[in-house]
Amino acid sequence: MAAKKTGTKTGAARTKAVVTKPIGKKPAAKAVVKKAAAKPAVVKKVVVKKVVVKKPAPKPVAKPVAKPAPREEAVAAVKMPKTGVIPVGAGMSPYDIPYYGAPLGAHLSTAGGIATAPPRAPDIGATAMQLFTKQANQWKEKPCTDAEVKTFRTALAATPVTFCTAHDSYLINLASPDPVLRAKSIESFECEMRRSNALGLDAVVSHPGNFMDHRADGIARNADAITQVLERVTGPTRLLMELTAGQGTVIGSTFEEMADLLGQLPAALQDRVGVCFDTAHVYASGYDLANDFDGVMTRFSDVVGFHRLGLLHLNDSKAPLASKKDRHELIGLGSIGEGAFRRIMTDQRFAAVPKVLETPKGDDMITNDRRMLRKLRAFAGGR
Ligand SMILES: [Zn+2]
Ligand SMILES: [Zn+2]
Repeated sequence: MAAKKTGTKTGAARTKAVVTKPIGKKPAAKAVVKKAAAKPAVVKKVVVKKVVVKKPAPKPVAKPVAKPAPREEAVAAVKMPKTGVIPVGAGMSPYDIPYYGAPLGAHLSTAGGIATAPPRAPDIGATAMQLFTKQANQWKEKPCTDAEVKTFRTALAATPVTFCTAHDSYLINLASPDPVLRAKSIESFECEMRRSNALGLDAVVSHPGNFMDHRADGIARNADAITQVLERVTGPTRLLMELTAGQGTVIGSTFEEMADLLGQLPAALQDRVGVCFDTAHVYASGYDLANDFDGVMTRFSDVVGFHRLGLLHLNDSKAPLASKKDRHELIGLGSIGEGAFRRIMTDQRFAAVPKVLETPKGDDMITNDRRMLRKLRAFAGGR
């Protein structure tokens, strides 16, 4: 997405998906709303039957005529299969809480190949997704064949997902003073950008590196490496630098340092880069999203600017404020607490920004993510 524009712009990569599916009009959600709106009489029947004694404002559901949509707890109580598609029926659709905001989803598994990731999105009710395009903890690169690219694009186009981003390898350190590690990192990062462009992804999320020796030198090396690669690899995929928790010598844990890093990139590249705001990282870095949400966001606006915000990673934090530790927790169960997430889901400044969960998966790949997305959608609706 262009620096002055919103998340919707990034979809240029997948022309078809974006043009035909503007944000906020996901087919599944739309279908449910339509049906709901078309059957006002049904709601009355439900009330008469007293099926939902304690539940405020029961919503009509698409399929079984006189049944209220389940609340989050009800869905959580249903026994979920370990894999595969959740049976939809009896109000079980993960999209059944109407939500008209920006793409919202989670980091999805690519076990079995990258084309296996998109079909997982509907299982959890996702309209945004993040994935690794290779093994994130290995240097080995994986160029995508034309067949793989085609299969992936077809699989993605068959979902309601309108924002898809890669997350680059954890091994990459574009700020390293070590020439060998630096060369390997630049090569790997370049491969990531090429793969993601080929796959038609909207963005690549990348962590600023570790400076190892001197902070200012590390930031300059990081900016130089990004510049080299973006000048060699052109395409629609935008680079989003992620704010970090601040452990060790990592760069990018303060808004000032992120602004400094991005500011060192040439003017011609500014529209091709942006920021990924990870709530757990920002909190662990020392920004108190729990008690000073407005103060933190004002600071972000002043120093980095909302025009650069390309993605939110919505994670609660197991680690306390300013701990510099990167430990993700389910929304509402960590030290940030649900208040900040309610704010994010209702604040107009984030209305057009894609949002992706990186919270613990639990026993399977579906249950937790599905619950978290329902929870966030409920927050957006003021519940
Ligand atoms: Zn990350
Ligand atoms: Zn993150």
